Amino acid sequence: MSARPIVQYGDPVLREVAQEVDKVDSGIKDLVSDMTDTLKEAQGLGLAAPQISVSKRVFIVDLTAVDLTAELKVFINPEIIEKYGDDIEMEEGCLSFPGLYQKIVRPSQVKIKATDIDGNQFELDADGMLARVILHEYDHLEGVLYIDHLSALSRTLIKGRLKKLKEVS
Ligand code: ZN
Repeated sequence: MSARPIVQYGDPVLREVAQEVDKVDSGIKDLVSDMTDTLKEAQGLGLAAPQISVSKRVFIVDLTAVDLTAELKVFINPEIIEKYGDDIEMEEGCLSFPGLYQKIVRPSQVKIKATDIDGNQFELDADGMLARVILHEYDHLEGVLYIDHLSALSRTLIKGRLKKLKEVS
């Protein structure tokens, strides 16, 4: 297995609503393995399958770069049960928007359920950076991008940079 190319803003796959996974079979395991290699190579914190052109409801989160006790987590067919806590503004980037960091407001906590790589269901209560990355990656499965959370004014300010990203994609 190996890293696959990450698509950039402008690629229509990033705007699709991703498809449910029927079964955690060898194809899904290979996909997750490739996503893991892709994320490591890109040195990111999270990656959703649509970012490597696979419109399936799978994302991974790896916070080991910022938290040594963290482990890579796999979310298949995730469902957000509840978003709660305070709305917090934090700087965010996205591997599909190289070099573009923006302050994004999101709730501080999330309760999510999903299927893991062994096909088992689990539930997770996340806060801090983990909640932030989960919410960002979950959005990708709905065709939503982090810039969609910006105010109209902020988006106008980065219009030129977005156009440039679209041209190279
Ligand atoms: Zn992203």
